[in-house]
Amino acid sequence: MKSLTKINKCQLLILVTALAWISSRSAFGQPIRVVATFPDLADITRQIGKNLVSVESLATGVEDPHGVPMKPSFVPRLNRANLLIVTGLDDEHSWLPALLEVASNPKILAGQPGYIDCSVGVPVLEAPTRIDRAEGDLHPKGNPHYLLDPLYGKIAAQNIATGLTRNFPQYEADFDKNLKAYLAELDSWIGRWEKVAAPLRGVKYVEYHPEWVYFANRFRLQRVGSIEIKPGIEPTPNHLVQLVQQIKQENAQVLIYGSQNPRIPQQLQGETGIKVLRLYTSAGARSETDTYIKWIDYTVHSLVQAVS
Ligand SMILES: [Zn+2]
Repeated sequence: MKSLTKINKCQLLILVTALAWISSRSAFGQPIRVVATFPDLADITRQIGKNLVSVESLATGVEDPHGVPMKPSFVPRLNRANLLIVTGLDDEHSWLPALLEVASNPKILAGQPGYIDCSVGVPVLEAPTRIDRAEGDLHPKGNPHYLLDPLYGKIAAQNIATGLTRNFPQYEADFDKNLKAYLAELDSWIGRWEKVAAPLRGVKYVEYHPEWVYFANRFRLQRVGSIEIKPGIEPTPNHLVQLVQQIKQENAQVLIYGSQNPRIPQQLQGETGIKVLRLYTSAGARSETDTYIKWIDYTVHSLVQAVS
């Protein structure tokens, strides 16, 4: 009996020592594990978390943001994550909830502290008067492509910093300092982009999927129409005939598509002579757009070049 007590005490001591070591490692050694749905959000998180975070993005930037193909490797990454960063506004609604269901990580479910929704505080455009998902509308809460407006990139950065601090208050001063530096850097880029984008003012554009409204509002472009009848609904032949007429009547200058098949954009180019430009609506799709700032910069310059 005596020896058993001794063994138990000894085991207990080992256990306590081990636990103390583990907790000290997670507090001071191991970075905070963050999963972001898209590369732009992952980049912004790295800018604010610096060496305190280890960030992975699920999407690579070339996928349709509403239909990122689910890979088996996503599940363990979500299972181990301390935090999940999302665009919100149901941008990820067709693929993320199913992954979260099997990832068994209650910390990062919607509404929990580890779930960081970057859309909080964004003035939502194209908010529907009724929720219409039954008809296939991919924007049931309004247009979720707000990161194309760099001013709303600042809101996302603030939400990420707030979420990091909510979960890891011991690093508040670091997150705050890094956020301020990043916002100042973004402000200086925004000033440059406003000058560079001056030729975009009044440019008439056509888009494949309705995702350019925030960018267009910021830099004063005018939408003529979209290839999709409504978000996620492919066009009918009649719709395309009307769109060709609109492009000709309004003298639309540029057709923007991203992850979609280039067949219809090329067909419209053949019929109207409109310039066609492939611009992805997330960072990460090209090596020169691997950060949020580089992606917006590339987008602004590509459009200016296309219309000049
Ligand atoms: Zn969309």
